Amino acid sequence: MTHKKSLWLLIYLLIILVAVIYLLADLFYLKPVLTQRNKNQVEPTGQIIPPYYSPEVFQKPKFIGRLPQANLATSTALVWKSVKLSILMYHYIEYSPEEADLVRQRLTIDPTIFKKQLVTLKQAGYQTYFVRQLTDILSGKLQPAKQSVILTFDDGYKDFYTIVFPLLKKYQFKATVFIIYDTIGGQAYLSSSQIEELAASGLVEIGSHTLDHVYLSKMPLSLADKQIVQSKLELEKKFKIKVSSFAYPYGAFSAETVKLVEQAGYSCAVSVIAGDWQSEQNLFYLYRLRASNRTGEQLIKLISSK
Ligand SMILES: [Zn+2]
Repeated sequence: MTHKKSLWLLIYLLIILVAVIYLLADLFYLKPVLTQRNKNQVEPTGQIIPPYYSPEVFQKPKFIGRLPQANLATSTALVWKSVKLSILMYHYIEYSPEEADLVRQRLTIDPTIFKKQLVTLKQAGYQTYFVRQLTDILSGKLQPAKQSVILTFDDGYKDFYTIVFPLLKKYQFKATVFIIYDTIGGQAYLSSSQIEELAASGLVEIGSHTLDHVYLSKMPLSLADKQIVQSKLELEKKFKIKVSSFAYPYGAFSAETVKLVEQAGYSCAVSVIAGDWQSEQNLFYLYRLRASNRTGEQLIKLISSK
């Protein structure tokens, strides 16, 4: 074979290789991602990622820099106060219904597994906090225990009362539940009297998850504002409580919605961005971790990793 011929053969093989790689990527990666996204459109509740947040949020943070901590005394730079504290995110705690689709299955944790997670956390000496307490922790007013974790439950499903609440009482753990105001009393959701009891227990913080679980970053700002403001006011009026924490449905937010949440008088908000360092900088899009079906030991490994 001549030199020229073998060169052409090589180019030909390369083209075939690239085509095969593209086809495989399309088959195994792009397709599932697209299907997942389409599912998100029709699924009324739950927060399968990817999170729909605007990168803008990270480009223009509201700068409220503080002077360095003691251990940074030699530095002249301003730093954000931050703390490594995992906020665990849960949705359904129940035996997965037979008709459950993929999204529902991924949002559902078996009660036996959930109980084991709590038992392991308890035995390892973990302390729990409400989401709203992060502001005190970050300002230095509250010193968290060395082993700390925050438990959060999105959407306010009935199982929070029937399964989670008895376990919180048993192990004296705190949790924050994010209520979708217009679903209160709905078939799958917490009723008014259940929420009243939860709020009065001292173990549960009631946070807002909008009026009807909307994509805040995809709607006119005036409507987003109504969802953010009204849900807080209605919850406060109905249950005679102060609502300080907010959760973005689908983890969807933008720089503008972050501003609206802050202006509405919330003191913090949680996102679905994965992470366990919380800081004054991301106080209105705090990071969370999915507990999923991990064993207690795996969960502790997740939240105590450096
Ligand atoms: Zn939700």
